[in-house]
Amino acid sequence: MDLNRTPYMREVLDCLGDDRHTEVALVKAAQVGGSEAAKTAIGAWVDSNADSILLVLPNQKTAEEHVEERIFPMLKEKRLARWVTNRTHDLRKGQVNLAHMTIYVGWSGSPQSLASRAIKYAIFDETDKSADHGREANTVDLVRDRLLTYGDRSKLFILSTPTVKGGPIWQSWLGTSDRRKFHVPCPHCGEFQPLEWEHVRWDRRDEEDSEELLKAADALLSGAIDAWYDCQGCHERIEERARLGMVQRGEWISELGDDPRSSRVAFHISALYSPWVTMARTVAEFLRGRVAHDMRNFYNSFLGLPSEEYLGSPKVETLKGRRRDPAFVCPRWATSLTAGADTQVKNGKPYWFWVVRAWGPNLKSRLIAWGKAHAEAELYDCTIDATYPVEGGGYTMRPLVVCVDSGGAVELKGEDDASTTDLVYRMARNDPARVIPVKGHGGVKRPDRLISSANVDYQPPQGAPSQVLLHRLDTQGLKDILSKLIRAEDPILWEESAIADDVYLSHMTAEEKTRVRVGRKFHVRWVNNTRRRNDLWDASVYCLAAAKMIRADDRRESGKAHEERLEAKTGERQHRQPQRKTKPGWVRKHGRQRGWVSKR
Ligand SMILES: [Zn+2]
Repeated sequence: MDLNRTPYMREVLDCLGDDRHTEVALVKAAQVGGSEAAKTAIGAWVDSNADSILLVLPNQKTAEEHVEERIFPMLKEKRLARWVTNRTHDLRKGQVNLAHMTIYVGWSGSPQSLASRAIKYAIFDETDKSADHGREANTVDLVRDRLLTYGDRSKLFILSTPTVKGGPIWQSWLGTSDRRKFHVPCPHCGEFQPLEWEHVRWDRRDEEDSEELLKAADALLSGAIDAWYDCQGCHERIEERARLGMVQRGEWISELGDDPRSSRVAFHISALYSPWVTMARTVAEFLRGRVAHDMRNFYNSFLGLPSEEYLGSPKVETLKGRRRDPAFVCPRWATSLTAGADTQVKNGKPYWFWVVRAWGPNLKSRLIAWGKAHAEAELYDCTIDATYPVEGGGYTMRPLVVCVDSGGAVELKGEDDASTTDLVYRMARNDPARVIPVKGHGGVKRPDRLISSANVDYQPPQGAPSQVLLHRLDTQGLKDILSKLIRAEDPILWEESAIADDVYLSHMTAEEKTRVRVGRKFHVRWVNNTRRRNDLWDASVYCLAAAKMIRADDRRESGKAHEERLEAKTGERQHRQPQRKTKPGWVRKHGRQRGWVSKR
């Protein structure tokens, strides 16, 4: 094996050959040379002693292929050829017979193939590859049992690309006190740091719909877009060409500090260290995962992380820690405010849970106010007609737009729903520049765009049919963005305020992203398993949609200028025209219907 290309494997192999460790786990991305390491270990063991080896793979087919394609060719090597006999290549008994020893071949889910004989060395490759994880965990234990006779002279090497947290390789990582990550020195400042996805940067272009995402992915692969690494020491740009040089000078550092007593050690290596995968390639895979709405391959095969690391629900504790600032006051960094309102119906009467949030660069956000409105006028008063002072004084700000749930019922015929939808559309017609009706997309097949708009024919309960501009939201995608904003720690992007009380926190943490079965397939989705109310979570999703529509993250305009512009508009708004054009002013049409066209 060429350790010049994969220098990080040297210490892994050292641990497999030393007297201290009985168990070595390698959590790895797909293309980092893991299987080479396993082969090298087997070769070294075959060559250096006459003890039995057990090789375990996830199933019989991969076990047979592995022996044919890797073990047999390896035995042709000069130094090993002397152990080969005329019975060596006969795999019928699930074993490879050598002159001085036997390599037993077993697979997950077949206890017979792991017959109860004492083994000194065992390798379990791709532990997470079979579909049935309960069985594999048992298999790791079965293999450990085989090693008991040899005690601390035995050696178990397990390696795999992780799948889920409960999978054997991640469990092994968590169960080890000596968890090592590979730290590499910055070419500019020399600071050693593990390479993490969070610090990979690229020239972002428009990456809103599938077409743009795929274009960006192609541009990354062709070199038209650069990807680089943001050094955590000096924040200089580390180019792709410097990466492998850094890896050459890297060293393994245990996360929890050295533990000389531990006989188990675990290593983690992602594609960011791979000589075969560029940073641009990793980013391209990330973008493709977004198009497919499935990030599993990206997290598993490129980052070497279980995909659920990015599932779960926002934590009450996290949000509680974000309540440092007073409510009803805009932060100085705010460039705009938006509002979101979730429509509910009780006894035939609509009411709204609403939130108002401030937005700044990178979608940094703070909760300004939230509440419950029982009438249309009250909703206006609390959201788009409310003004909030800015920290330090001097001027006030007002939400630019409010996204209102259209009752989810444009196509439904239920009377309550129809009248609610009618009301929301009437509100939008009266103030098309500021009231935006939205409808979450609930189906399994997710829409192509995060936010799309189309004119649909709408028949109100009374009166003539009319065309309305319907805004569909990919609520799953928006919730992903929302939870990502909440998770961000460095810097914190999602701030609450003093008004975030227990009711608010309960709403905001009612949903979780999890694996759900739909028919015969599993999907990863946001669901409410707590049965708690989640209206403010939905309102926050609409509030975020509003921020996306006005490109709040791109705004450079100060709150002051924004307010002056609003003041100029207010006079105009005094005379609401009931039949104004339904197309809000900032929506510009290009050649085809493009929804929220925001290219400038
Ligand atoms: Zn640096």
